Amino acid sequence: MTKSTDFLLIGGGLASATAAETLRKEGAEGRIVIISAESRPPYHRPPLTKHFLLEKTKQSLLYI
Ligand SMILES: Cc1cc2nc3c(=O)[nH]c(=O)nc-3n(C[C@H](O)[C@H](O)[C@H](O)COP(=O)(O)OP(=O)(O)OC[C@H]3O[C@@H](n4cnc5c(N)ncnc54)[C@H](O)[C@@H]3O)c2cc1C
Repeated sequence: MTKSTDFLLIGGGLASATAAETLRKEGAEGRIVIISAESRPPYHRPPLTKHFLLEKTKQSLLYI
């Protein structure tokens, strides 16, 4: 369990994933921790109903 971090993002959705990506793109160094109620990494939700449940895409391709 991580005891300290440089950036703490709450929620494992697109907002946190984009924030983490943006931090890195803008040169931020250090540890980024995302805390989420979900047990899986951030994923794109729109394809859930448009592709995944119709078996048009693999689960692994949903991850951001
Ligand atoms: C099936 C589906 C289809 C969609 N289709 C479209 C579309 O076609 N076009 C479109 O524009 N948008 C669509 N959306 C909406 C889009 O996915 C959301 O706007 C987007 O996911 C919002 O991202 P977010 O990170 O702000 O919030 P969310 O994706 O809701 O993420 C919030 C995160 O916070 C976590 N969380 C909540 N409470 C806590 C807590 N107390 N402690 C820790 N973690 C917590 C949740 O587990 C989750 O990981 C769709 C959504 C769904 C579900």
